[in-house]
Amino acid sequence: LHWEKQIRASAEVRRPQGISVLVTGAAGFVGSHVSLALRKRGDGVVGLDNFNTYYDPSLKKARKSLLVSHGIVVVEGDINDGRLLAKLFDVVPFTHVMHLAAQAGVRYAIENPASYVHSNIAGLVTLLEACKAADPQPAIVWASSSSVYGLNEKAPFSESDRTDRPASLYAATKKAGEEITHTYNHIYGLSITGLRFFTVYGPWGRPDMAYFSFTRNILQGKPITVYSGKDRVDLARDFTYIDDIVKGCLGSLDTAEKSTGSGGKKRGPAQYRIYNLGNTSPVTVPMLVSILERHLKAKAKRNVVAMPGNGDVPFTHANISLARAELGYKPTTNLETGLKKFVKWYLHYYGYSPRGTKNL
Ligand code: NAD
Repeated sequence: LHWEKQIRASAEVRRPQGISVLVTGAAGFVGSHVSLALRKRGDGVVGLDNFNTYYDPSLKKARKSLLVSHGIVVVEGDINDGRLLAKLFDVVPFTHVMHLAAQAGVRYAIENPASYVHSNIAGLVTLLEACKAADPQPAIVWASSSSVYGLNEKAPFSESDRTDRPASLYAATKKAGEEITHTYNHIYGLSITGLRFFTVYGPWGRPDMAYFSFTRNILQGKPITVYSGKDRVDLARDFTYIDDIVKGCLGSLDTAEKSTGSGGKKRGPAQYRIYNLGNTSPVTVPMLVSILERHLKAKAKRNVVAMPGNGDVPFTHANISLARAELGYKPTTNLETGLKKFVKWYLHYYGYSPRGTKNL
């Protein structure tokens, strides 16, 4: 196997200075950032990604090249492939799995429900089975989502708040993931930490997300669609900068206890935790647009329409006291600064001049 040769030849993967991590969804937005950050501090990283075409595959290929240039082996494959996972765990005794592969996005679920079941439920179970069978059993840190808070009106959202009113199939599969991982912790003693990310943004981001598509349209002089909520109340999101999320992920890996092995009873219960990783300061979508206009030095053509009820929630707002106390999580980048960095990356990546005009 091509990747097996690469792993056997890689000193970075075979003899890491730190922990040894399998990162699923490594060619994705968050996965690529987390993989690089782990590698930079000396951890061994193998990435796994199926390079699906949910959004621009060339962006995933570009992220992969960046990872490979930093000594990370990236395997092309699906988390539903149990044989591939068994082989990976056979070749590398991973101490941790950072599980970030998923079908993301709330609106895509309207037309493509099966994709969510495939990656977020069936794929998750296949991965947990592989972790259960592995020796040593890795500690698992995985991405849940703020979307599990659904239509809750009490803000900010705390981990103990109700999560029984999901507004999208995406949210429902993340909530199911929390319950599925709990059973693997309870029955098999797997150490599991779920992270509820709140609207992550930044360089190398996801083209399907509003801040990204707004940037593209503003630069191309095309209109943007801004949803307004019930009674014309603006939608708001607790936008969280990627570097803050990465620190939260690394903090979770570092505080994750070991899996205790089958049953959990013999050697004491393994860790099961859930944390909010947000920014604690929601910003309305019109405010987001004005910040982008300022950084792009261009005006947006706003097309304001009522929220069509296709999976979005009116607002999100994280209470992060638990992550602060237990993971040392402390977000430091506000939306103004984070978007400035995103715009700088966007203009460079897509070949614009720093003033926003396309280079010829
Ligand atoms: P992303 O789509 O950029 O990354 C996911 C990666 O997983 C993609 O590269 C995709 O090709 C891969 N993938 C999907 N299904 C797979 C499968 N079956 N097998 C192997 N690879 C597969 O998304 P992201 O924004 O980086 O999100 C990472 C994680 O964080 C996801 O679990 C997502 O649900 C969660 N999350 C993200 C946000 C956010 O705002 N970005 C918010 C909440 C939760």
